[in-house]
Amino acid sequence: ACLERIRQVDPKVRAFLRVDEEGALVAARASDARRKAGNPASPLDGVPVGLKDIFLTEGVETTAGSRILEGFVPPYDATVVRLLKEAGLPLVGKLNMDEFAMGSSNESSAYSLTHNPWDLTRTPGGSSGGSSAAVAAREVFGALGTDTGGSIRQPAALTNTVGLKPTYGRVSRFGIIAFASSLDQPGPMTRTVGDTAALLQLIARHDPQDATSAAVETPDYSADLEGGVRGLRLGVPREYFIEGMDPEVEASVREALREYERLGATLVDVSLPHTKYALATYYLIAPAEASSNLARYDGIRYGQRAKDARGLKELYAQTRERGFGPEVKRRIMLGTYALSAGYYDAYYLRAQKVRTLIREDFTKVFKDVDAVLSPTSPVPAFKLGEKVDDPLSMYLMDVFTLPCNLAGLPGLSVPCGFTKAGLPVGLQVLGRPFDEARLLRIARAYE
Ligand code: GLN
Repeated sequence: ACLERIRQVDPKVRAFLRVDEEGALVAARASDARRKAGNPASPLDGVPVGLKDIFLTEGVETTAGSRILEGFVPPYDATVVRLLKEAGLPLVGKLNMDEFAMGSSNESSAYSLTHNPWDLTRTPGGSSGGSSAAVAAREVFGALGTDTGGSIRQPAALTNTVGLKPTYGRVSRFGIIAFASSLDQPGPMTRTVGDTAALLQLIARHDPQDATSAAVETPDYSADLEGGVRGLRLGVPREYFIEGMDPEVEASVREALREYERLGATLVDVSLPHTKYALATYYLIAPAEASSNLARYDGIRYGQRAKDARGLKELYAQTRERGFGPEVKRRIMLGTYALSAGYYDAYYLRAQKVRTLIREDFTKVFKDVDAVLSPTSPVPAFKLGEKVDDPLSMYLMDVFTLPCNLAGLPGLSVPCGFTKAGLPVGLQVLGRPFDEARLLRIARAYE
């Protein structure tokens, strides 16, 4: 049914970069046999899902939305891919994304333009926009995305789906193409909070192959899902309701806050005073780490290689000149600058210090409240092409999502109504480290 649905709608939505029909069918048949024998591998055995094209998949081309990796076929699976296979989920294919996950609209993909199923002239968000579009268009029951500064939550918000960025270290990054290693975190994107809990259950595992993977127990994420919010204290940070945000987004989120009060939660006015530095801090740290991570694409080891270069330096230069798109080049230049001798102290080191202050803001607030509520994105889905020539206005799409990555916290986006034009709005729920179960319960109460 999913493959049929993809044939019907994907020519318009264009969420998939490649569909692995054969692999999905083989897995589905094996799952059928297990189910008939009364022996499913997991509660989601047989449920088809998609993968952002940033997850290494053995034998299936993986490009991270970049020309430089065109034709790259990984020799092994990312840990989370292996876990999904072991749990019996047919992996239907690889989903479009911004090149190396840099972007908020999917428009920096080197391959195709993904359209928002709610309005095909608009973006499905980014960088996991193929994932959000495929879930919203009912092509798959769920997908995995990655979130470095908002790339799971923002596309979820723009497509009326649920997206969870787990605590940094909660889910293994092994076998996921790195963008900014201290911020990247994979997570589920689904139609419902319950589905997100079920998918998280399969991938939240300590992994000795990822040095930053946390050795913590995995709770039962579904156990407390219906527990409600009575008695919880929910923080409303004043810095997240700012000038310039869309009035209809603000109205939807304020309505959600009132609903939480009706459901028995107490709203608490809180302040996260360093929020105003988060965007600048992120756009130093993320490009700095990216410039280092992307040094490996040299034409020698992976993917594309310039054919007519004379000598090694020219080979590097031509491969990278042709293989990377404009946004990736911009980030490499910004990051290289911030890390270079003489500027390191003034930019990168300073940004790391501010990052600590941002984290401390949250630590203080979470002494008083159980979670923090805010809009996920300041605006609903914008028109394709609208911001493509204006990197700064694109970067502003992340103001509400990226502090969570800088602090390493879990965050999710849950649908919270529509604008008059019928565009989805998302509510963001942020929590204490490893408190995903409570975030899911809070989101479920409103869903
Ligand atoms: N939009 C942000 C960026 O371009 C975040 C991307 C992400 O989370 N991968 O860096």
